Amino acid sequence: MDNSTRLYPSDSAEVEKHPKGITARILLTSVFGPYAQDDEFGSRSINPMELYHNQVTRAQGSFSLRMFHRSWGIMLIQANISAPCTVLDFPTQKDFARELKAHEYDVVGISSIIVNVAKVAEMCRMIRQFSPNSKILVGGHVTAIPGIEKMIDADCIVRGEGVSWMRRYLGEDASAPIQHPPIVSGMRTRIMGVRLPERKGATAATIIPSVGCPMGCNFCTTSAFFGGKGKFVNFFESGDELFEVMQNMEDQLKVHSFFVMDENFLLHRERAMRLLDRMKAAQKSWTMSVFASANAIRKYTMQELVELGVSWLWMGLESPRAGYSKLNGADTRKLTRELREHGIRVQGSTIIGLEHHTPENIVSEIEHAVSHDTDFHQFMLYTPVPGTPLYQQMSEEGRMLSDVDYADVHGQFKFNFRHAAISRDDSKRFLDFAFWRDFQVNGPSLYRIARTLLAGWKRYRDWPDTRVRQRFAEEMHRLSCIYSSALWAMERQFRRVDDRVSDRIGELREEFKRESGVVSRMMPAVLGPVLLLTTRREEKRLTRGKTYEPPTLLERRNWAGA
Ligand code: SF4
Repeated sequence: MDNSTRLYPSDSAEVEKHPKGITARILLTSVFGPYAQDDEFGSRSINPMELYHNQVTRAQGSFSLRMFHRSWGIMLIQANISAPCTVLDFPTQKDFARELKAHEYDVVGISSIIVNVAKVAEMCRMIRQFSPNSKILVGGHVTAIPGIEKMIDADCIVRGEGVSWMRRYLGEDASAPIQHPPIVSGMRTRIMGVRLPERKGATAATIIPSVGCPMGCNFCTTSAFFGGKGKFVNFFESGDELFEVMQNMEDQLKVHSFFVMDENFLLHRERAMRLLDRMKAAQKSWTMSVFASANAIRKYTMQELVELGVSWLWMGLESPRAGYSKLNGADTRKLTRELREHGIRVQGSTIIGLEHHTPENIVSEIEHAVSHDTDFHQFMLYTPVPGTPLYQQMSEEGRMLSDVDYADVHGQFKFNFRHAAISRDDSKRFLDFAFWRDFQVNGPSLYRIARTLLAGWKRYRDWPDTRVRQRFAEEMHRLSCIYSSALWAMERQFRRVDDRVSDRIGELREEFKRESGVVSRMMPAVLGPVLLLTTRREEKRLTRGKTYEPPTLLERRNWAGA
């Protein structure tokens, strides 16, 4: 199977070009669903296609934030090649087979993460059966699996950044400027049993300024995939370029908020500050959700972050005793509190099962994580994933467990390596405990983000910079009715299980009432009972095992007649 397979690092100078060049007809696809079920292809009910519900709010029942995110990598490739190209996202096997039979594709590219390797193998088999003349390309994190070329029947396996590789494959200029496609950041958002309406402009646009992260933490797949320590790939080098892209997205999608999909956006201070200059000059009152490490956040004053429109920040807390350079000397609890006091929602991320963890100290480490009282908290098992320095180290030490299915290597189940002090079964118990404890102590994330918004609004409602004032006022105006009503329902739902959390929610509801206009004051009496009803109905559905799947999406570009 591997005789003719070519393995490419994405920056390989010598790429065997496709004979048809930009006239080749291309299909780019994600792996097939359904995803939230246990099956022989590696779907796992514990690992649904819902980022937040999967690894952040999964213990929060009907209060869990549920939404789907597109496969941005293949969308970006599609927007940056001149060949006729179809993107098929979240297909079923039937959809995939139908598309293969309906058009004669010269190239079929599959993008996948490691857990889905069995699906990639099955899709390669289907391509050989239904479209035998197609060249099969495979990209994404799945390519980091050692010996992948023997596990799947592909023609080319491409590691790393895919846009420039694909351009070279088709004989195009690999260094041409990147065209950013319009990407709506989330879809089918659901919380408290209600699916939120999908109006144009209501959801943030996703922007991808760079991929990779130079910090090179030993467990980090993204950093490793795009070159590791000291490396990253910038799609937009300067703040000016980024401003133009955001302005373009604003026009196309009618958005003012952006989900910045960059592993460490704030690390590039010069770019961020130039972006701020442009935003100020153009009076842009944009908001941004960003990922950043503690050392990068500390390069900015709170004022700068607020002026930049940072309203949500995903930060790795890992562990108080972790030796990662990004955390050197950072008092993450103080930093989290300060960010929240300035109206910036914080999503912490903590690792369970680091080398120094033992059954004796892990509970106090979890308590420490929970005490950050972040708006959201991700917990992940320490997981040596192929391609990372940690995987290399564990393999050399002979500590990788050989009988773990790749479908279970996602950090939300059990260890895939031999830990010095914690058993495999206990790793899951501690992970589940962390999610449960965070929810028990801090309450639903929806309550927490409402609290942070109110803190920001109180602080900045009279701020001299109109852009900042406007941003908080607009958000408060748009959301206070909803939050007040949701808090009304939450307060009553929690009265059944925990008076202490219910009281805190009630206090916040009262505060919203004092700070809001007449409509927002009246609204909970009407909308609150409805939300309580939908919440309780959703709880029953979830208890019966209800799961959610993303819709199948198909988009054609450079396609005659499309
Ligand atoms: S700082 Fe975050 S994104 Fe960067 S390498 Fe570490 S874990 Fe990965």
